[in-house]
Amino acid sequence: MDYFVNLKTSSQWTKRTFSSISILILCLTFATPAHTWGLKKELNNPETASTCLTVKALKNKEIVYSLKIDPEFLNNFPVSELSLEIETALRIWLIHLEKLSGSHVKISRNENTDQSDLVVEIGRREPGDDSNGAFTQTILQPAPQRNFIKVKINADLMSSKTQTSYQYQRISKFLEHDESLESMLEEISFQEPQTLDEFANRRNITHADVFWTPYRVFSHEFGHAFGLCDTNPDLFEAQCDPEYRSTPPQRPSIMLYSNFFYLTNDDLEGLKTLIMRFI
Ligand SMILES: [Zn+2]
Repeated sequence: MDYFVNLKTSSQWTKRTFSSISILILCLTFATPAHTWGLKKELNNPETASTCLTVKALKNKEIVYSLKIDPEFLNNFPVSELSLEIETALRIWLIHLEKLSGSHVKISRNENTDQSDLVVEIGRREPGDDSNGAFTQTILQPAPQRNFIKVKINADLMSSKTQTSYQYQRISKFLEHDESLESMLEEISFQEPQTLDEFANRRNITHADVFWTPYRVFSHEFGHAFGLCDTNPDLFEAQCDPEYRSTPPQRPSIMLYSNFFYLTNDDLEGLKTLIMRFI
């Protein structure tokens, strides 16, 4: 009997504890909601706003980019592959901007960074850079030099989560028999849009394998170049403008956890807000 009573008491205690924990988790979840799109605070500076790719695309109907690769990484990341990846990742954003604004936007490459809207750099991490492998920065220069957006990948970075080390590798490593890089990028971003996990499962590789590729970085970092902020709880308050951000229900997005090769509905809402603000 004592045993039975104890069991009952223990079961009630367990139920109460469990429901208290559930309520606590729910409260914490709603206390720090993860947002799924927001506009960068720095767009309140007119000079910065005029440098973002949304404004460049709407105003010039063209985005000019240049690519700078540290020679020591040229063998790992050939120019031809990176150019294709940059242009495809720009189109992930531009196809929607074109539909929403009704105007075609040309993409061109220029070796001269002084004539570029977007400069993509692949190189070693510089002293003082504490970014997690990649970052996007608005570079404002004294006139007559041109302002531009810089996207940098620290190709020497080794990330070691758990017991495995990861380093950036080219996505072409995961091509299937007879497949071209161009057709693979077209498939995963446009014809049969995939998440990183779907891509990894279909090709029998890990999430980390595909996460540490320049193409995944471009898909996310170009969202910053167009004017969106990081919306994960750690960065949201620091980066995102309280006047321009998503409201519940929150849904997954590229700008939240960088798990997509295509824009989700929330990324689209963010892009739409950028266009409405700057058109
Ligand atoms: Zn980011």
